[in-house]
Amino acid sequence: MATTIPDQKRVGMVSLGCPKALVDSERILTKLRADGYAMSPDYEGADVVLVNTCGFLDSAKEESLAAIGEAIAENGRVIVTGCMGNEAELIRAKFPQVLAVTGAHQYEAVVEAVHEAAPPSQGPYVDLVPQPDIKLTPRHYSYLKISEGCNHACSFCIIPSLRGKLASRRIDAVLREAEKLVAAGTRELLVISQDTSAYGVDVRHEERQWKDHPVRTHMTDLARELGQLRTPEGDTPWVRLHYVYPYPHVDAVIPLMAQGLLTPYLDIPFQHASPSVLKAMKRPANEAKVLERLKSWREVCPEIAVRSSFVVGFPGETEADFQYLLDWLDEAQLDRVGAFRFEPVAGASANDLPGAVPEEVKEERYARIMEKTEAISAAKLAAKVGQTIKVIIDEVGEPDEDGDRGATGRSQADAPEIDGAVYLRDVPETLQPGDFVEVKIEDADAHDLFGVIA
Ligand code: SF4
Repeated sequence: MATTIPDQKRVGMVSLGCPKALVDSERILTKLRADGYAMSPDYEGADVVLVNTCGFLDSAKEESLAAIGEAIAENGRVIVTGCMGNEAELIRAKFPQVLAVTGAHQYEAVVEAVHEAAPPSQGPYVDLVPQPDIKLTPRHYSYLKISEGCNHACSFCIIPSLRGKLASRRIDAVLREAEKLVAAGTRELLVISQDTSAYGVDVRHEERQWKDHPVRTHMTDLARELGQLRTPEGDTPWVRLHYVYPYPHVDAVIPLMAQGLLTPYLDIPFQHASPSVLKAMKRPANEAKVLERLKSWREVCPEIAVRSSFVVGFPGETEADFQYLLDWLDEAQLDRVGAFRFEPVAGASANDLPGAVPEEVKEERYARIMEKTEAISAAKLAAKVGQTIKVIIDEVGEPDEDGDRGATGRSQADAPEIDGAVYLRDVPETLQPGDFVEVKIEDADAHDLFGVIA
């Protein structure tokens, strides 16, 4: 039976930005709930509204400022946190009525600001009843954040100045969280950070005790231990590694993928292929012979899917550099590609580089890279027609007028929100989000697959 706490204070949350910011929002809400607050799904019912902002690109900042403006207009009692917290002056100048501004991952500061703005009601239930963690992602997948910050200095990026140097979480704490999530219904873990391959560098890969053996704070130990998790039904949950730079030790996780212990998927933000552009970008691990590595990974684990993102129109990018990138993509045959036109970020050193690329050239290159990567993706997906593959269900639809029910899922090659989908026809009523099913693929387009449960 639900217990109503008299005068329980309600907090609204607007969460913007990347999965890392979403994890911060989840942590803040979990802490607030433990302190006796309830969540409000709308502005009206909230005693205070938190806006978790993103300040990475100028367009994201504008979106954050618009969200703050909306929250003030709709509710009036607003606390700002997240990446734009570093620009408190700008926020206060524009919105003097904001109650407090705190920075990214300053959990205590933001929780304290909420306590001040709307003091929590105290009651026996609030203090005694343990509350489950709050999740903003669907129950069947969860982001697992392993570190904060970054030790690199990519010239287009201001994350190190926003979030500081690399700070890795304790590996035993990460594994405990993963175990808890899987026991509570998570079927897919998405490992995130700014630089997953660098996990533990800041603590010299210190050892911690996990169960009956020591584990190092290191990406390969983490991957191996996550591969040992089992769902209550005895399945191996999917574990996806994001933001992996191709350091040599990445080779060690590919056999785990071949053994089915780790999802055969790597998200490697290459950003470019031309050596001169990579140098100007100051990218980490760009000296690695990536094409050869891709080839050897595919030899060990033929089903591996590699996703990446690329920036076109970076200052100084010539037509020859861009053509180099297109030729490289022909060779690399990546499974999933996101492309972005270069956009200057206030405070990034790339803004001062010579050779700004005119907007119309950026547009034209963007269209060319999209055409190239869509053709590669379409051919790769077409090759899956006729195969039977494992799919995780994200959503089950309502039956149509003929009583047929559809569902949307993803293959191991598709991370939620950024990659493609698998659309299923004629699914049984009993199918649930989070279920794993074997699907016979019947059709494909440039991004998605279509099929039926085998
Ligand atoms: S690796 Fe580069 S792009 Fe990624 S967070 Fe660090 S500085 Fe930014």
